[in-house]
Amino acid sequence: MLRVALTHDVDRVRKSHQYITRIGRSLVKLNLKGVVEQLLDLTINDQYWGFDEIIKIESDFGVKSTCFFLNESIGLNLLKPSSWKLALGRYKITEKRIVNIIKWLDANGWEIGVHGSYFSYNSSKLLVNEKKTLEEIVGHEIIGIRQHYINMNDSTWKLQFNAGFKYDSTWGLGDEIGYRGNRIKPFTPLNNSYYVIPFAVMDSCFASTLNKWEKLQMIIDQTIEKDSILVINWHTNNYSELDFPEYKNNYIKIIERCVSMGAVFYTLKDYYKEITKDEQ
Ligand SMILES: [Zn+2]
Repeated sequence: MLRVALTHDVDRVRKSHQYITRIGRSLVKLNLKGVVEQLLDLTINDQYWGFDEIIKIESDFGVKSTCFFLNESIGLNLLKPSSWKLALGRYKITEKRIVNIIKWLDANGWEIGVHGSYFSYNSSKLLVNEKKTLEEIVGHEIIGIRQHYINMNDSTWKLQFNAGFKYDSTWGLGDEIGYRGNRIKPFTPLNNSYYVIPFAVMDSCFASTLNKWEKLQMIIDQTIEKDSILVINWHTNNYSELDFPEYKNNYIKIIERCVSMGAVFYTLKDYYKEITKDEQ
């Protein structure tokens, strides 16, 4: 049987410096249409919200996903360009529109998880705070996490477990699709009830994969063979058809492919409950 978990990292919810970089890129290519499209979009600036599309698509298929919300606290260091991308354009998890969508998703059967901030992979304090802040918004326990930029070191799993997380879904590849280190099944690195549930397909990697549909089918077959779960990761801002053509269509086509194979869809939380039901 094919099991599938659809997940979303919520890195950003609105466009900011991307207007400058994208207009710059279009100018370099003398692509005036590209410049005009970006300028027109600037007047609306809702391209990176993504939730309306996700809710519509998933509701049409009768499935629910897991959304990992980022609570980035990294400072902007003007002398360090590498910090700009992380600090600019971030959202405040407590702003009204974000709180409302988190509550709506939670109340309607979607799962809310923590998208651990850039340095949280190595910080108990950040992990605990980010979990607590999100729990205060939804009013109940949060059990899942995925680290931003799939950052991790030897301590991350232990720190997450000590912070009260029950599963992590950071284990995966950032440059191609497929299973990292050929680890297909969820595993228990601490030999207790804390699980690592690998993800296999991330949006940007899928976009750049040659023969992507054949490769996806291979991954699906591997997942079924190992009686595991196919975890898909599509960032909420990538439903912008202007900036990420084909991402939204690919997401729909992947769900269609899984449905055609009789897939059962889970939130990661429900899947975690299923694999630990004998332990509880
Ligand atoms: Zn992220």
